[in-house]
Amino acid sequence: ELDTRVEVTSGDEIGSLAQAVNDLANDLRRYRDNRSEFFANISHELRTPITYLEGYSKVLKDRLYQTEEEKEQYLEIIHQESKRLTRLIDDLFELSKMEEGKVGLNFEWIDLAEIVENSVQKTSLKAKAKGLEIKADIQRDLPLVWGDGLRMEQIFMNLLDNAIRYTEQGGISVQMRSGDRGQVEVLIEDTGIGIPEEELPYIFERFYRVEKSRSREHGGTGLGLAIVKKLVDLQHGTIEVFSQVRKGTRFVIKFPASPEGKEEQR
Ligand code: ADP
Repeated sequence: ELDTRVEVTSGDEIGSLAQAVNDLANDLRRYRDNRSEFFANISHELRTPITYLEGYSKVLKDRLYQTEEEKEQYLEIIHQESKRLTRLIDDLFELSKMEEGKVGLNFEWIDLAEIVENSVQKTSLKAKAKGLEIKADIQRDLPLVWGDGLRMEQIFMNLLDNAIRYTEQGGISVQMRSGDRGQVEVLIEDTGIGIPEEELPYIFERFYRVEKSRSREHGGTGLGLAIVKKLVDLQHGTIEVFSQVRKGTRFVIKFPASPEGKEEQR
C-alpha cells in the first residue's frame, strides 16, 4: 500500500532502509498521481474540441443560423476543431511512443545548419502571412552533429511555429554558431508575448500552458514543447528558455558536435 509509511526511529542501517522504503513509496505515489492527472488532462483536451464539433454541427443540422455568413463561420470552427483534434491525437501518439522508448532514431553525422535553414524556409511563409520576418544568421562550416535529421527538423519546426504563434509584431531571429565545449548552439528568439518567469520551469511539461485561452486561440495542443524536450534529450542535447513578458522569448538549444570537425566525418 503506497500510503503507509515506515516509521523511522533509528539512525543505523535499519533506519536508512526505512528511509529508502519511504522514498520509494513517495516516488511511486507521485507516479500514480501523475498518471491519473495525465488521463484527466487527456480527457479534458479531447472533450473540448468535441464539444465544439457537437454544438456547431447541431446548429447547422437544425438550421439554427440566420445568415449564410454565420453558417460559414460555424463550418470554419468545425474545420479548425477537427484539425486540432487530429493534431492532438498525433502528438499524443508521438509522445507516448517516445516515452515507451519505441521511437527509433536514425543516428548519423548531420549538418545541422542545413536542417535549421530548411526549417526556417518552411516556416517563413507562415511568418510572412502574419507580417513577421524570420532572420537567420548561421555560421558556416560548423562541426557535424550526431543525430536524426528528421527529428532535428521536428524540433526546430516546432520552436519556430511557437515563435510565430506567440508573436504579434517584430520578428524572429535564428542564430547558429559553435558554442563552448565543442557544442553547436542554436538560438531562436522572438519579440512575442513572452512567458512569466514563474511559469518557465513548467513549459516543457505535457499539457502545460501559460494560459489555456491564449494557447487555444493560437491553435496549440500543449504538447509541442514536451515533444521538443524529449527529442532534444534523445539526441543528447540541452534546451534552455529565457523570457520576458511582452518582450519576447529565447530558446537556446545545444548539441554535442563531432570532435573531428566537419570534414573528417564525410
Ligand atoms: P502549445 O501547443 O499550447 O503552444 P507548447 O507545448 O508548444 O504548447 O508550449 C507550451 C506553452 O508555452 C504554450 O501554451 C505557451 O503558453 C508557451 N510558449 C511556448 N512557446 C512560446 C513562445 N515562443 N512565446 C511565448 N510563449 C510560448
